[in-house]
Amino acid sequence: MRLLTTVAALRCYLTKCRWENKLLYPDTPVLDEQTNWFKTSIGLVTTMGNLHQGHLSLIARARRDNLTVIVTIFVNPLQFGPHEDYQSYPRTWEADCLLCEQAGVDAIFAPTPENIGVPQQNSQEIPITQVIPPSAMIVGLCGRFRPGLFQGVATILTKLFNLVQPDRAYFGQKDGQQLAIIQRLVADLNLPIEIIACPTVREASGLALSSRNQYLTSIEKEQAAVLFTAMRVAEAAFRAGVRHSSELIALVQQRIFMVSHVCLEYIELVDPTTLMSLETIQEEGMLAIAARLGSTRLIDNIILRDRQPIIAIDGPAGAGKSTVARLVADRLGLIYLDTGSMYRAVTWLVLKEGMSIDDECAIAELVNQCKIELTQNPDLQHPVKVWIDNHDVTQDIRSLEVTSQVSAIAAQSAVRRALVKQQQNWGKRGGLVAEGRDIGTHVFPDAEIKIFLTASVSERARRRQSDFSRQGQPEVSLEELERDIAERDWKDSHRKVSPLQKAADAIEVQTDGMSISEVTAQIIDHYQQCLSRY
Ligand code: AMP
Repeated sequence: MRLLTTVAALRCYLTKCRWENKLLYPDTPVLDEQTNWFKTSIGLVTTMGNLHQGHLSLIARARRDNLTVIVTIFVNPLQFGPHEDYQSYPRTWEADCLLCEQAGVDAIFAPTPENIGVPQQNSQEIPITQVIPPSAMIVGLCGRFRPGLFQGVATILTKLFNLVQPDRAYFGQKDGQQLAIIQRLVADLNLPIEIIACPTVREASGLALSSRNQYLTSIEKEQAAVLFTAMRVAEAAFRAGVRHSSELIALVQQRIFMVSHVCLEYIELVDPTTLMSLETIQEEGMLAIAARLGSTRLIDNIILRDRQPIIAIDGPAGAGKSTVARLVADRLGLIYLDTGSMYRAVTWLVLKEGMSIDDECAIAELVNQCKIELTQNPDLQHPVKVWIDNHDVTQDIRSLEVTSQVSAIAAQSAVRRALVKQQQNWGKRGGLVAEGRDIGTHVFPDAEIKIFLTASVSERARRRQSDFSRQGQPEVSLEELERDIAERDWKDSHRKVSPLQKAADAIEVQTDGMSISEVTAQIIDHYQQCLSRY
């Protein structure tokens, strides 16, 4: 792991590592043949140090997705007010380096304010160019109590984004207002960076991990857990049908007032993307809270989402994911998100428009303008009707011509990016079953139900052999099939980037000796148990 403290050293390091990544992986972003995810060169995790499991979860995610992971450690003077804890903010350089090393970070960039061109002191008259997010996003929530905070955050992040030029940058949902502002910043300034939101990591008590927790005594820590338990009360009410902001907020307040030392700064219900205040929740809302315990200020939030559940099924090749996913969707009346057919639909449109398959720019334009729809179809062979620009292409996308070109189209990163975004947009409404190799870890990390479907190598070889004989194909020996499958598994799970991994919150279904209908029944049973917990 490299430790870099100057902009000059960082630039030099980045040039070298981009060059090496290109040599090692000439096709980056390297596309996974079967999933919707593509690997990228550089992932960035920005922190103020004093690393804990929350930061480490971002780093672990970045490690999975990227060839190179860079962590920045910089206590940013621009985001501290004059009476805030800039000087006393916990700085634990050696422990941080060790944690980064253990987490497989490639380089830490830890500049001094001077080196990165930021004044040591925050003041009214900062002599540098600053980035000011839209005022509607910074006047509420934390912005009301910490003026200048998000201007400081946006300015330093723009500098770090420009310096590192990462493909992806990782941020915690814990800082929900910051996350929304960064997403807006990247969109407004057309920065070619994908912002990945990562779930909040909590202590067993529910208290969100934060560097500032170490200011708390053990009694205060216990008391601080009320922030989360109070939000859970509102969440339970929301699930029971309460939609009005005033009622939900009152529930949180009542619960918090029971703990005398917790002094509420704000509790608000806002749209998680625009941060506009909500009177009622239509689709989703962010319940955000800030409170003080003594002199320590804590923040937290939860997302209240009114959507049908998403079932994410991942697992190794040949485990029967697509058959099972179709059946589960059919039985539960959910939509089978047939991602393969989306790529086929785009291919069909490219061919219909007479575009060259190599014209990536034209295809990028097309894929961002076309409208794909998937609707339920009673025919179990084709359980999804596929529409593109109002044409029903369910049958046409199965043509030989489309089949022969679809992998070339799916290999284009602009196509992948647009379709994953589309899938995630549909995910907002929920009611989907999707399968692949990183649906639960990447495409829908907040899916309610995650299944890791697997089977032993010998079982998958047997299944493949009988598929071949059913299709009248020449016989391949079991040994040969087993060797192929084992090799593919090894490759899938040992790739430096996006290895096949079971999501931490997925349940594993080992399907050896089980029939398709038994597997389907087990998943449906799990789904029903999960729903009854809500
Ligand atoms: P900080 O060092 O506090 O500036 O945080 C750096 C990054 O870590 C930000 O993207 C935070 O949102 C994220 N982060 C901090 N605490 C947590 C947590 N408990 N869970 C997940 N992410 C977190």
